[in-house]
Amino acid sequence: MSALVWFRSDLRGVWHSPLTYAVANHQTVTAVFFITPQQWQHYGLAPIKLDLLVRRLLQLKQELADKGVCLNIMQVADFAAIPEKLKAICTEQRITHLYLNAEYELDERRRDQKVKALLAEQGIVTGIFHDTCMVRPDQQLNKEGKPYKVFTPYFNQWLAHLRNDLPHSQPWQAVQLTLSLPEALLDSDNSIQRYMQNADEMGWPAASSALDEKIDDFLTDAVSRYAQSRDFPAQHGSSGLSPYLSIGAVAPRQLAHSMLIRFGEAMLDGSGGAHVWLRELAWRDFYRYVMFHFPHLCMHRCFIEKYDAFNWCDDRNLFDAWCQGQTGYPIVDAAMRCLNATGWMHNRLRMIVASFLCKHLLLPWRWGEEYFMSRLIDGDFASNNGGWQWSASVGTDAAPYFRIFNPTTQGQRYDPDGEFLLQWLPELKTVPKKHLHEPQKWQAASSLNYPPPIVEHKQAVSSTKERFGQFLDMHKKAT
Ligand SMILES: Cc1cc2nc3c(=O)[nH]c(=O)nc-3n(C[C@H](O)[C@H](O)[C@H](O)COP(=O)(O)OP(=O)(O)OC[C@H]3O[C@@H](n4cnc5c(N)ncnc54)[C@H](O)[C@@H]3O)c2cc1C
Repeated sequence: MSALVWFRSDLRGVWHSPLTYAVANHQTVTAVFFITPQQWQHYGLAPIKLDLLVRRLLQLKQELADKGVCLNIMQVADFAAIPEKLKAICTEQRITHLYLNAEYELDERRRDQKVKALLAEQGIVTGIFHDTCMVRPDQQLNKEGKPYKVFTPYFNQWLAHLRNDLPHSQPWQAVQLTLSLPEALLDSDNSIQRYMQNADEMGWPAASSALDEKIDDFLTDAVSRYAQSRDFPAQHGSSGLSPYLSIGAVAPRQLAHSMLIRFGEAMLDGSGGAHVWLRELAWRDFYRYVMFHFPHLCMHRCFIEKYDAFNWCDDRNLFDAWCQGQTGYPIVDAAMRCLNATGWMHNRLRMIVASFLCKHLLLPWRWGEEYFMSRLIDGDFASNNGGWQWSASVGTDAAPYFRIFNPTTQGQRYDPDGEFLLQWLPELKTVPKKHLHEPQKWQAASSLNYPPPIVEHKQAVSSTKERFGQFLDMHKKAT
């Protein structure tokens, strides 16, 4: 009996249940990954993310080969082509079982249903595992038997699940004799070289050993300061693991396991760095959970459905200024220039620029969501969509529309000395530090090569509140 393991957004050779199970239960195991250029284009994925994905894929191929499993990298246009391709592989190789990790996005679920049905017609069994989240999204419902819509009660139950099912080590099973697929079925690995940008030197290594070191460094040192430092962009207080979680180079339960070894069950309680960090990992699970239970989120719709009819502005000039970091609000501009140059943005800054786009410029949150995906190395549909809907006050746990981030006070609080800001806006180095975040104090009199504020803060806030207020009134009358 031969098995095929289909790798998707789980590009790792450990903490990988489909692989572990296949190796333990089948005489021969082979693995496959599909490059899907048109799908990636349709999703608008950032070149820097594809670069990491492809570099990771090549590392994984080597790491699996060292353990006797051949990873076959194949190219098809998009998801639609995959069911037939898998059928051809399974028939050709007399494969009896396909194993995979569930993905919860709607297109992905539909693709997997088609694969399962088509293979079942051939008598091939599809085994689905759930390593993508720390706690499976179909395991949690509230007392009324409905999905949670708010994070805190979800998190409390999530902790209880984790406590009952703490992740234990998953050692590698016996080395395998594996199948390599015939050339006719394979596309050359060279076709993936075009995605590579050589971003390694930007601090995103793809080898498992380097990633283990990154996790180790964070958990032995920075995590203890995480609760205090995570909100300050200049302090590099967070783990920087989101790019790896997004392609599955690391598994959430693997991280929980590493924490368990160091902090024991104390990580499940209290206010220490490990617990605070665990809570952030739970946010990742939560956004996947919500997407799983409310699939309309995958159709460009708002979680709070009435907001689908909200009348956002459509001023492309304002949007361009935001994208290019030319709004005249230093913290917003520094964050956007950092994103454009590096493919990365700190979480606090994501919240500030997202709020600015939706609440100061009144531009559609979907524009921001799309722009982030096209630039972020960790672009991830569920977390990105969740973050944007939260910022626009149209999603789960949404801040009420009248709570609007003030870019000046946010900057003063989280980058008080302008350390982060000056890294990206060196033209402001002559501005007195105490006024860096207050362009209205120096802009008019300055000859700096820096734009004036694109909107006036108080005015923008008041027209946003008015627009939301009117919308809600109208909606109330209509229903
Ligand atoms: C508008 C907006 C868009 C976002 N887009 C993305 C995205 O495309 N991809 C992405 O991975 N995250 C996204 N986030 C969430 C968050 O900003 C990043 O996960 C975080 O900055 C990653 O840095 P880190 O790995 O150092 O995080 P840490 O602080 O070390 O946190 C550990 C892990 O927890 C998860 N996490 C932390 N915060 C959040 C959060 N608020 N929501 C969901 N998961 C979280 C991430 O997987 C992260 O790697 C977005 C947030 C906002 C406000």
